[in-house]
Amino acid sequence: MPYQKFEEYNIKVTDDVKQRYEQIIKDLGEDTTRDGLLKTPERASKAMQFLTQGYNQDAAEILKSAMFKESYNEMVIVKDIELYSLCEHHILPFFGKAHIAYIPNGHIVGLSKIPRIVDVFSRRLQVQERLTEQILDCINDTLKPEGVAVVIEASHMCMMMRGVQKQNSTTTTSGFRGAFEKMETRTEFLKLISEKLS
Ligand SMILES: [Zn+2]
Repeated sequence: MPYQKFEEYNIKVTDDVKQRYEQIIKDLGEDTTRDGLLKTPERASKAMQFLTQGYNQDAAEILKSAMFKESYNEMVIVKDIELYSLCEHHILPFFGKAHIAYIPNGHIVGLSKIPRIVDVFSRRLQVQERLTEQILDCINDTLKPEGVAVVIEASHMCMMMRGVQKQNSTTTTSGFRGAFEKMETRTEFLKLISEKLS
C-alpha cells in the first residue's frame, strides 16, 4: 500500500497541542530549550494528529467507494494486515495484525479498502476490543455480507514497557457475524489464517 503522508494540519490545533507538549516536557523535568528538544513539541503535536486522524475519516464511505456487484460467494480473506493504534488508557501504542474475512452476498469490495478501514479505526484512542467490533460492524452494516470475521492479535506497549512488563504476551480479540457464527465456517477461517503460505 502506498504510504500517504498526512499534511493537512489545522494550525490552531497544532499550536495548542504544541504548547501543551512543551509544558508536559518541562513538567517531566526536561529542558525544552536544548537543541534536540527545540522542535519536539511541534513534531509531537503533528505526530499525535497523524495517529488520531481516523476521527476525521468515514470508514463506511471508503467501503462504499469500491463496492461491486459480483456473484462470487466463497470466503474472502485478507490476513496479516499491519495495525498500529493507541491505547486509550495510557496513550501508548499497541500494534499487531488483523485478519479479516467475509462471505459476499451479491457485492464484493476492493481489497485495498479493508486495510484502509483498519487504519481509520486504529488511528484513534482505542481499546482492542472496541477496535475489533467497529471493524466488524462497519463491514457488516455497509457490505451486508453473508458473514464477517475479524481477529486481531496485538502487543500493548503499556504492558510491555510498564506495569507487569510482560514482553512477549499478545492479546487476541475476535468477533464473528452471520455465517461465521456457525462453528464449521469459523473453524475453516481460523485454520486458513493460521496456515503459513509455503
Ligand atoms: Zn494501556
